[in-house]
Amino acid sequence: MREILLAKYGELALKGLNRGSFESQLLRTVRKRTAAAGNFKVSKAQSTIYVEPLDENCDIDGACRQLTRIFGIASISRAAECPKDLDSIFETAAAYLKESLENAATFKVSAKRSDKTFPLNSMELSKELGAFLLERYPRLSVKMDDPDLSITVEVRDFAAYVHAGRIEAAGGIPAPTSGRAAVMLSGGIDSPVAAFLMAKRGLDLCAVHFQSPPYTSERALDKVERIAARLSIYTGNLALLCVPFTDVQLAIRDHAPEGFFTLIMRRSMVRITRMLCECEHCGAMVTGESLGQVASQTLQAITCTDEAAAGVPILRPLIGMDKTEIVSMARKIGTFDISIEPYEDCCTLFTPKHPKTKPKLADVIRAEAGIPDLHALEETAAGTFHVRMKHFFD
Ligand code: ATP
Ligand code: MG
Repeated sequence: MREILLAKYGELALKGLNRGSFESQLLRTVRKRTAAAGNFKVSKAQSTIYVEPLDENCDIDGACRQLTRIFGIASISRAAECPKDLDSIFETAAAYLKESLENAATFKVSAKRSDKTFPLNSMELSKELGAFLLERYPRLSVKMDDPDLSITVEVRDFAAYVHAGRIEAAGGIPAPTSGRAAVMLSGGIDSPVAAFLMAKRGLDLCAVHFQSPPYTSERALDKVERIAARLSIYTGNLALLCVPFTDVQLAIRDHAPEGFFTLIMRRSMVRITRMLCECEHCGAMVTGESLGQVASQTLQAITCTDEAAAGVPILRPLIGMDKTEIVSMARKIGTFDISIEPYEDCCTLFTPKHPKTKPKLADVIRAEAGIPDLHALEETAAGTFHVRMKHFFD
């Protein structure tokens, strides 16, 4: 008896004409990510991706874990494969699900027959398998609504598959279906969650991080690298572009009116990220801003930030989320524990006591005009980034 993985698409199935290219993209990603777990055959049929171990050394658990993290896959079933005849299906179900059958009090069987040449229809097959299992396990009873054990048998083109229960996967749509974007990644809690959510919507990402040595430490940078590494479990390869921001930040500190410091710094980050978007072929930026969370995230401040993007959209997937919701998602994706490490990033430097919460764009632009060489400093920063890491996924 061979155990294989059946991965079901989510929304992808709805995408009409583009479906073919989405499927091929997903297959490529599945091949790449499962390769580390062994020699698997990856193929697709009938809206399902089949991941079949080709030898004894394959790590099915490892491959399954990889699949749960691939955007575009909605659920995974671990299934036993058998020939398409009743006796084989009966014996495979009894053997493969032995432990679950012994521990359950109630069960139900659902059959799906996509091979219409199979002599029994779905209803008949469900009944026959149910009757067989009842005879084998007389202690069991059938319960259609919320049973302890829900058994599925699928009769497909080349074989039948028996499984019980599905493992929920990441959902979303596969990258780069939606194109490419640059996520502004700080060491905080929010921006990693924002990156995760936009990758889930099919965006291929690169990450941009602003650092201000010697005010920010190597450890702060190391922290962001580990956040990026954690994210790359979901995104696949993720380039982290580290931008030297000290000179820009000092110029703002020395020449901007105090209450404007944070907002002008954010606009500078956005202008630099926009320049990087051009060379990295990104059609949007992503930030972890959430409405009203801090002074630089009021509507007026966001209006000023957007203007600096000069038409490149800034995607803010957390805009309507509470901090508690963001934190629980950060925990779920495994970035929270890294984010709360104490090493400070450049945003916490030089922050004014009384930042403007209702800035007017004209005032901000005037304040920027008073900062000597601001745009030249930004251009230099954009031109001297270095890529810290590219391939991290386990
Ligand atoms: P986060 O938890 O993501 O740092 P935050 O609530 O601390 O967010 P801010 O510090 O105001 O908010 O930053 C707003 C957004 O600006 C961040 O979500 C992030 O996208 C971006 N950002 C802030 N600091 C940096 C940085 N050093 N490098 C890159 N992007 C940054
Ligand atoms: Mg922050």
